[in-house]
Amino acid sequence: MTEPVTPVVATRFDGEVALLLIDHPPVNALDATVRTALATAIAGVLDDPRARALVIACAGRTFVAGADIMELERAAWSDGEGPDMHPLFAAIEGSSKPVVAAIHGTALGGGLELAMACHYRVALGSARLGMPEINLGIVPGAEGTQRLPRLVGVEKALEMGLSGKPIDASDAQRAGLVDRIVDGDLVSAAVAFANEVRARGETPPRTSARTDRIGSPTENETSLAAARATARKTKPQIPAARAWVDAVEAAVTLPFEEGRRRERELSGDTVRSEPCKALLHVFLAERAATRVPGITKATQTTPLERVVIVGAGTMGGGIAMACANAGMTVRLRDATREGLDAGMATVRRNYEASVKRGRLTTDAVADRLSRITPQLDDDGFDGADLVIEAVYESMELKRRIFADLDRLARPGCVLATNTSTLDIDAIAGVTSRPESVVGLHFFSPANVMRLLEIVRGARTSPEVIATALALAKRLNKVGVVARNLPGFIGNRMMFPYMYETQFLVEEGATPEQVDRALTGFGMAMGMFAVDDMAGLDVAARVKR
Ligand code: NAD
Repeated sequence: MTEPVTPVVATRFDGEVALLLIDHPPVNALDATVRTALATAIAGVLDDPRARALVIACAGRTFVAGADIMELERAAWSDGEGPDMHPLFAAIEGSSKPVVAAIHGTALGGGLELAMACHYRVALGSARLGMPEINLGIVPGAEGTQRLPRLVGVEKALEMGLSGKPIDASDAQRAGLVDRIVDGDLVSAAVAFANEVRARGETPPRTSARTDRIGSPTENETSLAAARATARKTKPQIPAARAWVDAVEAAVTLPFEEGRRRERELSGDTVRSEPCKALLHVFLAERAATRVPGITKATQTTPLERVVIVGAGTMGGGIAMACANAGMTVRLRDATREGLDAGMATVRRNYEASVKRGRLTTDAVADRLSRITPQLDDDGFDGADLVIEAVYESMELKRRIFADLDRLARPGCVLATNTSTLDIDAIAGVTSRPESVVGLHFFSPANVMRLLEIVRGARTSPEVIATALALAKRLNKVGVVARNLPGFIGNRMMFPYMYETQFLVEEGATPEQVDRALTGFGMAMGMFAVDDMAGLDVAARVKR
């Protein structure tokens, strides 16, 4: 093996400030390599009389964006201890020389824990900071639950931990997580900041020793009880949600040393929990789904701006919203005035509901609605970059429509069908351009559900698949390439499950009883409620 050209952590001096630059692509994850290199580099500069202050920064597109997921996965399946950052963070925080974290990109999870172990945090305005561990069903184990409330207060720490959502730099500064927002050259600004604090001669503030933001246990009773209620309500199946509250409570009630031990236990329990294993599996599966045989970064994609959707029913309306939300120009076409009006009425109702819930402003809704043109004719089909067919599940009807599309659409236009069960090749077969035909299987409600199955026909070109994957990303969905088989992936998995629920009804249970058992088990919806939402006619047509 050859030595890496650039060290994982490089040390250089800018006057009396030692700069430690972590360079571990792609996202500077805090894995064993980085931890070891950082510990050696820190020990080196702490002993070095030339260094009067330290700046920890990262090369590449982001600050440390988290812990190493593969390490976490190994910990989830074995009884091994999670990665131990404690000695490293104790060395950083215990340093008598001020240590400044210079943050760009995202400081998430282990990255934020590292930044919080530093005495000061300087960030670019575009930086984002957060503790997303809850999304993997875990409580962080590197003292994050103990330092975060000490910096931002109990309520904010609970909110950040339970939502898992990162906050932007200005929010972080208001909360007390970032000391200064800078623009331009981050490292120079962080070095200047380090020189300032050194010149002031103050003792570097140790977050672990702070209590000014956390208040007394009685003062926090209400926030902790409210957070427990939120955890129960929004994440009933995720023990980590309750454990997050317990960990923050430990920060309030225990000295730091005991609190971090308590966090360690809670973190270990959640890492080995079933929900964590399942969520890690989902995370890794979503990552694996981005690697598609035959598709590389070099595969050409077509920009998609103008979309025609044929069929303004349950799916067509939702797909129109998904595309309009992503800033695309949409034509929504139906065969009947009745179908079109009903479709547009649903679209409007859904947008109005978003305004009522405070998710969208009336201006944003007006903009999105203005992007959707309802129509009964074939106007604008020739200018479309993408056509998505979402009419009734009938091979005969779909073949007729694709024969029309072959005539109407410009060469290079992507021709997609939203069929749930039909053979893509049989649909593509009526066109003179089967390479442009692909399945885009949205799930109901299409403006909400994250999964988009991309069905590859026998002759679908790699460029069309790559374009469909780019579309999924733009629509904020997870694109999963599927083979052309009945039910593709999602429904194929769901069929046996659906049959069992129907057998139960045949054996005397009511649909309500079956659904109650399923939601009690932890499913977001019962199978019969899902059928109702999709429309029972869809299943009937599939049967026929
Ligand atoms: P739907 O019955 O709600 O809507 C179909 C619409 O197509 C109607 O408005 C109808 O007027 C219109 N239409 C019929 N013929 C047309 C034509 N020649 N030109 C233009 N419009 C025409 O159906 P849906 O539930 O939205 O399903 C549409 C497709 O999506 C089906 O292939 C279905 O299998 C698939 N799908 C449905 C779901 C679901 O949950 N409903 C999920 C994924 C995929």
